[in-house]
Amino acid sequence: MQRNRHSMLTSLLLVGGISLIIGFISGYPGWVISITLFCWALVQIRQFNKLVHWFHTRDEELEPPEASGHWGELFDEFSRLQRRQASREALLRNVITRFQDSTSALQDAIIIIDRNNNLEWWNRSANQLLGLDDAADRGKPVMNLLRDPRFVRYYKRGQYSDPITLTSPTRDDIKIQYHITRFGEADRLLVARDVSRLMRLEQTRQDFVANASHELRTPLTVIRGYLETFLDQELPKPLSRGLDSMQQQARRMENLVSDLLLLSRLEASLHISDEQPIQIHSVIQHIMEGAEQLGRDKGHQFNVDIAPNYDLAGQEIELHSAFSNLVYNAVRYTPANGIIKVRWWVDEQGGHFSVKDNGPGIESIHLPRLTERFYRVDESRSSASGGTGLGLAIVKHVLARHNGQLTIKSKVGKGSTFACHFPLEIVTQFELDESSVESLK
Ligand code: ADP
Repeated sequence: MQRNRHSMLTSLLLVGGISLIIGFISGYPGWVISITLFCWALVQIRQFNKLVHWFHTRDEELEPPEASGHWGELFDEFSRLQRRQASREALLRNVITRFQDSTSALQDAIIIIDRNNNLEWWNRSANQLLGLDDAADRGKPVMNLLRDPRFVRYYKRGQYSDPITLTSPTRDDIKIQYHITRFGEADRLLVARDVSRLMRLEQTRQDFVANASHELRTPLTVIRGYLETFLDQELPKPLSRGLDSMQQQARRMENLVSDLLLLSRLEASLHISDEQPIQIHSVIQHIMEGAEQLGRDKGHQFNVDIAPNYDLAGQEIELHSAFSNLVYNAVRYTPANGIIKVRWWVDEQGGHFSVKDNGPGIESIHLPRLTERFYRVDESRSSASGGTGLGLAIVKHVLARHNGQLTIKSKVGKGSTFACHFPLEIVTQFELDESSVESLK
């Protein structure tokens, strides 16, 4: 461009100089200069018009107008710029097409949600899996598409470390797992995956465990019945010792079978279907009676602290089972004269139930695996305590069905705290009347 400016100035000076000489020779310098400059200006205007016309013709293939000198250079320069721009555009278009092709080939639905919670973009699988309509749904709020209250809760809570699995909004026989990731400033990427096949396999496994446990129940009941009858008789010492031990093992097997059955019932659905009001105070009171009975030879000190006017909405049998597992574990694993603290309280995060003991504690390497089925820190300690190895797995499942979480804190030699945390949505508050205050005393 700099060169063009110089060559234009040179040509102007050249034309001006020559016309000045001719003007002096002819004796009409003024006229000659004026006419020459007028012609020069006409030529420039014509070239300029050609350039403007070329710019306005949007045909990228059209060659620039023919011109010589500085105008020719200028046209070539523009033509080069245009070609460079076109190849850059083609490259970008190619990248976008490849991105769209690859996302369309994905079986998972991918949806981009903007900062205002509206649907911004999605791939082809989203149309099939979630029934999105390209024309009608673009820019619509995501909550219009996925109205399930559990999804809305998951979306609003903003903690997306774990996915959530729900029935498809378009077909009842399809289970979809949703996982949200944040990106950019406040945008979200929602990935939805059809997990029906996995769920069916899991269902087959659960059915097998449930059926096997159920089938084991009847023979066990018969064995236990006979053992009881035999033990009622006068028997020689070695024989009664043997039968005693058989009865203990049969009882353990019965506990195992009933825990397995409970677990497979809990696994049958991811969430509880109907929420009932639960009187937390009376549930805990009932568990504490059982705990005192269980630890009657150990002389434990029980310390119970319950926020009186808060309850939960959920499944009472399940929560009773989860809370009692934690309290009974504390009783079983804490040596004689231990202190066991049971608390129920509510804060801005939600409702919390905790059991703290000053028992042997658990090494930190075991903590992440503690809720796995049959995972035991110390086999001999657990067998002696009569546990089934399924207690904490049951607790975990019950909490997941109530959108809750289990946290475990423990220090070897100091004790352990097992806490259940529930979202505020299922905490209910009520006014205390006189009779409730009386019953709390
Ligand atoms: P179990 O039936 O063996 O008690 P759980 O699933 O209830 O099975 O517990 C798993 C393991 O966690 C137990 O075997 C035990 O080693 C450990 N555990 C659970 N609660 C406590 C506790 N309060 N103190 C120490 N260890 C515990």
